[in-house]
Amino acid sequence: MEFCDECGSMMKAEDGTWECGSCGFTKPKGDAAEYTVTEDQEASEVIESSEETSLPETDATCPECGNDRAYWYMQQIRAADESETRFFICTDCEYKWREDDN
Ligand SMILES: [Zn+2]
Ligand SMILES: [Zn+2]
Repeated sequence: MEFCDECGSMMKAEDGTWECGSCGFTKPKGDAAEYTVTEDQEASEVIESSEETSLPETDATCPECGNDRAYWYMQQIRAADESETRFFICTDCEYKWREDDN
């Protein structure tokens, strides 16, 4: 919802702009940037819900049960300038391990 800067009437959405129905004043729609989600934010949401099955699968042998399929995700475990570490979660027993440990 947007109101006219000139007369205070309710404005209607035209393509890319708001247009006042009373006086014809127009202004660009400026709200698109507020809803932009960066790749960093998306990645951290994936990590927080890492126990769910929305993660990609790969061939990896579970050290716990020997199953050869695992979900995986990348996570930085120390300072932001350190390289990311790959973590696996067994699709069968849900055991979680780091790629470095193998
Ligand atoms: Zn107006
Ligand atoms: Zn397993």
